[in-house]
Amino acid sequence: MLSKVLFLDRDGVVSIEGGTYVTTPVDLQLLPGVTEALAMLCKAGWRLFIFTNQAGVAKGYLSIDMLNTIHSELVSRLEASGAKVEAVYACPHDSSDGCSCRKPLPGMLERAANEHSLNLADCLVVGDSPRDIAAGHAAGCRTVLVLTGHTHVYIPSCFPHPQPYMVCSDLLSCATALCSGEEW
Ligand SMILES: [Mg+2]
Ligand SMILES: [Zn+2]
Repeated sequence: MLSKVLFLDRDGVVSIEGGTYVTTPVDLQLLPGVTEALAMLCKAGWRLFIFTNQAGVAKGYLSIDMLNTIHSELVSRLEASGAKVEAVYACPHDSSDGCSCRKPLPGMLERAANEHSLNLADCLVVGDSPRDIAAGHAAGCRTVLVLTGHTHVYIPSCFPHPQPYMVCSDLLSCATALCSGEEW
């Protein structure tokens, strides 16, 4: 039996992937159905974490303080709707920085596992892009692809092997499937 731990990518899963960097709290717009989905998961006993690449910090579009402010406001907003997110992990680096946290590397998941005593083999990663799925697999997690961000149509050849465990149209249908009571 899986422990109920979910790692969510931010842009394109929880919030709108607008193709530009979100640099203030008001720029971060939740996707439709997300608060409902997360509240449903919380109620069903799932622990929620967010993990996100935010190279806009390395590129100078926003400060790390502003990124933290955006995330604390996001967490407060979700919590007010009954969705408790335990922590937000962000990689502020650029691909040229050679860090170990930027997805598709599993660094953020490994750090979270250490800090929260999680068994990654029991965790589920939800993402909208191949690098989310790759990071999940690299950490030994199961993965779910949602089609609300970078990927609108699932084309298996665009994804590193193995393929996502499940493909859902959006987070609400993912949450519904996870809360349906089926052993999956
Ligand atoms: Mg994304
Ligand atoms: Zn990093």
